[in-house]
Amino acid sequence: SLSDRLTATFKNLRGKGRLSEADVDATVREIRRALLDADVAVPVVREFTAKVRERALGAEVNEALNPAQQIVKIVNEELVAILGGETRRINLAKNPPTVIMLAGLQGAGKTTLAGKLSKWLKAQGHSPLLVAADLQRPNAVKQLQVNGERAGVPVFAPHPGVSSEFESATGDPVAVARAGVAEAKSKLHDVVIVDTAGRLGIDAELMKQAADIRAAINPDEVLFVIDAMIGQDAVTTAQAFNEGVNFTGVVLSKLDGDARGGAALSVASITGKPVMFASTGESLDDFELFHPDRMASRILDMGDVLTLIEQAEKNWDKGEAERMARKFADQEDFTLDDFLSQMQQIRKMGSMKKMLMMMPGAANIRQQLENFDEREIDRVEAIVRSMTPHERVAPKIINGSRRARIAKGSGVHVSEVNGLLERFGQAQKMMKKMAQGGGIPGMPGMAG
Ligand code: GDP
Ligand code: MG
Repeated sequence: SLSDRLTATFKNLRGKGRLSEADVDATVREIRRALLDADVAVPVVREFTAKVRERALGAEVNEALNPAQQIVKIVNEELVAILGGETRRINLAKNPPTVIMLAGLQGAGKTTLAGKLSKWLKAQGHSPLLVAADLQRPNAVKQLQVNGERAGVPVFAPHPGVSSEFESATGDPVAVARAGVAEAKSKLHDVVIVDTAGRLGIDAELMKQAADIRAAINPDEVLFVIDAMIGQDAVTTAQAFNEGVNFTGVVLSKLDGDARGGAALSVASITGKPVMFASTGESLDDFELFHPDRMASRILDMGDVLTLIEQAEKNWDKGEAERMARKFADQEDFTLDDFLSQMQQIRKMGSMKKMLMMMPGAANIRQQLENFDEREIDRVEAIVRSMTPHERVAPKIINGSRRARIAKGSGVHVSEVNGLLERFGQAQKMMKKMAQGGGIPGMPGMAG
């Protein structure tokens, strides 16, 4: 995954304070690979990474995040923006019925979506009508009727219930669509969903039929349904449908599969149209509003890292960080109070173990992490609290009898006090090294 691959990059970047061109390029290269792995179309990847690179180079130094995290954050923001920012809702007509037309290749999931969408709308208090304007496939009308029945939504078809009469393109889909909308009006349905025919590939005849239906019923929404597994073909397909029927929104289907969802980015980027819904299975309930932010992390395959970035930013105590930075700059001594304060900062960011496990590169220290006990922070706190102020800034004076007193005061064994002092000594050494290296670490206390 991208997390794994960024590990190396993160390593090189750790401890650096600003984004150099080389840092940015190294990270952007990994982002490019992740996008290609997610099947984002090549020209889209090229344009996208160029934009990210430009933004990253101009980015201000963010003290809560290390450079690679900053770039990931920029990438995420750009992905969300292209995918439509906020989830877009259906445009409801001022004068009902709201007419929704479905378009897309055969097998994309239109007829299934018609059932899902109608069920969803019905649950929200609408009274939808489904219209079977796919007269191309022998079983298409029947399939919509089955879905309508499951959804508890009526279906308008040329000869309702007798699908065998439509074994070829005998009916006129444009006339059926028009009659269906008229039926919705007369029966006071406030939404009408028109299912249309698809082909296995783009062809002129199919596109003309879809365009004719669009012209005849003047829909409020034309939803382009696209299979998330389509991969690199997403661009040509989306372009053809965008030119052919000028769709208003995109539905991504079969997101329950392995697809990382690159098609969403390709389609949205090429057409500028928002992705509105996600279809995630064969049952009518496998349907949800599309969330650009969730899709962005799926495409990046970095949900965990994004959560970490969010938490780090939210919980980063700016005052405390600045105090530490000043301390290092002044070459002041790192005290047990500082040690405790660092641990408390980390705890503020959430479960320490969980957080550490999310860090790219955690694989290297996974064994240690698994043995890590969060209650350890409580013990450290108790032990430090049992020390006198003088002991905390000058731990060298903590001799045997003081150790025994501290252990007794904090309710731990003397060996735990010894262990703490030993770890503190290591942290102190590390902090000194870092101060000489001229900078604070991206995550204080991480290496402690
Ligand atoms: P249409 O030709 O565009 O009308 O596509 P259909 O609605 O007939 O769907 C084609 C096939 O894909 C059917 O077997 C559906 O059950 C299946 N399908 C549709 N949507 C989804 C989905 O979100 N997930 C999965 N796993 N299968 C789906
Ligand atoms: Mg169909």
